[in-house]
Amino acid sequence: MTEFTVGQAKIARVEETYGATFRPADLFPEWNDKTLAEHGHWLAPHHYDAASGFLKLSVHSWLLRIGGQKILIDACCGNHKSKPARQFWHMLNLPFLDRLAAAGARPEEIDLVMCTHLHHDHVGWNTQLRDGRWVPTFPNARYVFSQPDFDYYRKLDADPAHGPAELGTFRECVLPVVDAGRADLVTGPHRLNDHLEILPAPGHSAGHVVFKLDSGRQQAIFIGDVFHHLLQVYYPHWNFPKNSDVEQARASRRSILDLCASTGALVLPCHVGAPFAGHIEATGDGFCPRFG
Ligand SMILES: [Zn+2]
Repeated sequence: MTEFTVGQAKIARVEETYGATFRPADLFPEWNDKTLAEHGHWLAPHHYDAASGFLKLSVHSWLLRIGGQKILIDACCGNHKSKPARQFWHMLNLPFLDRLAAAGARPEEIDLVMCTHLHHDHVGWNTQLRDGRWVPTFPNARYVFSQPDFDYYRKLDADPAHGPAELGTFRECVLPVVDAGRADLVTGPHRLNDHLEILPAPGHSAGHVVFKLDSGRQQAIFIGDVFHHLLQVYYPHWNFPKNSDVEQARASRRSILDLCASTGALVLPCHVGAPFAGHIEATGDGFCPRFG
């Protein structure tokens, strides 16, 4: 298990999937032979699979333990969600909750669930199927969602031309939590408690946020999908294909990279491969990842 210590906080990675999933050019049209020549020495084996030529991405949650609280950050894809258009994540049946327990939390012990945004691969475990209904997986938790993201997807979901939003996961993984009265919708910047601050970083989704942790003199930033791959640290203008606003996504990426570099915070993305978290260094005209 991958675990990090930040001041008084313990942060464990809880894996859902990790593998070679995308042809590089399908994710990043800017990818070419020069990219591999320049970055090949660090890309394989954790961020690129040389045998298939595919980029490797992880889907995981972070379990944050601080001040006696157990907080789940982002909630992966979840089990039994029908996503025929995304074969890698279609009808998963994985022992994620066993892995979460091994990392230190049973579902009833989770105090808070926090989603950086409401894309299908960040809300999945919010709910689970019980007797044919989607019910909150973490019965004692408050769930923190971004209000602008919620508003955006509620409108999209209700529009017959576009809905159901996010492969149906807005109805399966977000609305049941709101209907159960367990959701807190927040608009950043917002200080949640002594340790956690919610900062807007829109663009990948309309209301995407990041979570900044202060623990003693140390900091960590849960960046969600501000970047999906370490190549985007070298090339902050490289966008993941799916964005609500491409220019806003680039601007948010640069400003969060700046924040990570200037604070020296431990940076915890949602999809970057092993060692899964690290630091960002400013290089004068850009940034360089220091992961492992
Ligand atoms: Zn994602």
